[in-house]
Amino acid sequence: MPIYKYKLETFTETRHIEKICKPYTGQRIDAQDGEALPQLWGIEVSTPKMFHEGSKKIPLPRSGEIKTCHKCGGRGRCKCTRCGGSGQFRCRCSSSSRQKSRNKRCPACSGSGRKRCSKCSGRGRKICGLCKGEGRLFYFQQLAVKWKTLRSQVVSDPLEQELSLPLTLLQKVTGEVITMDGDVTVQPLAGFADVPEISDASGRLIQEHQMTCGPSSHILKQRQTVEMIPVAHVQYGYRGKNLACHVYGLERRVFAPRRLHNLACSIM
Ligand SMILES: [Zn+2]
Ligand SMILES: [Zn+2]
Ligand SMILES: [Zn+2]
Repeated sequence: MPIYKYKLETFTETRHIEKICKPYTGQRIDAQDGEALPQLWGIEVSTPKMFHEGSKKIPLPRSGEIKTCHKCGGRGRCKCTRCGGSGQFRCRCSSSSRQKSRNKRCPACSGSGRKRCSKCSGRGRKICGLCKGEGRLFYFQQLAVKWKTLRSQVVSDPLEQELSLPLTLLQKVTGEVITMDGDVTVQPLAGFADVPEISDASGRLIQEHQMTCGPSSHILKQRQTVEMIPVAHVQYGYRGKNLACHVYGLERRVFAPRRLHNLACSIM
């Protein structure tokens, strides 16, 4: 019995709304005409090429709003967190009695007893990190769209596969395409009744892929493929011993239970 590989690919579009806040630098605000914001799936987005993954962000019309920055109260500057707004620190020397008694000029503060705060350069204030000094924030919503392909596959394991060839290896090679079927959603393969593993996998994986979809994710296209993977059993003699290996897949990979001898390679 030949070895088959069943592959299901599901191309999905996922959408969600992101709330964004940026410093206000004169962004355009749409007229608030009282119209409600568009629904998640009501927004028109041009569809990319099928099975080509990617993403896109689209600002929602009429969602823009300007607000005073809550972090700095609109001033554009905040109190320096390191010095607490004073712009300076007490130098270590001012508390050290030993230094004072010697009456030497402290090199760190030139004898002033205070040191400038390096974080705010002595100003005591810093540009607000949230509004970047603008004092106002621009809030808006955007639609984030992601296109992804889910991929699952199953390799049939015929009972008479007296080849000790691990199925995981067969999953990595390609075979000859026997059937390929693509639609918005595909139906479980019925024509593979003689290989129940393939028709079962088709039904099961189609259901699994459908379950990953929900209100935020839609299927745009599905594709199911059945390939037949060629496997050749090769026997050869080497130094009086009978050895065997397998050549499998259109890539003609070689699998030998024991270390492969150079001789086997020449068969290819
Ligand atoms: Zn400071
Ligand atoms: Zn000092
Ligand atoms: Zn601010």
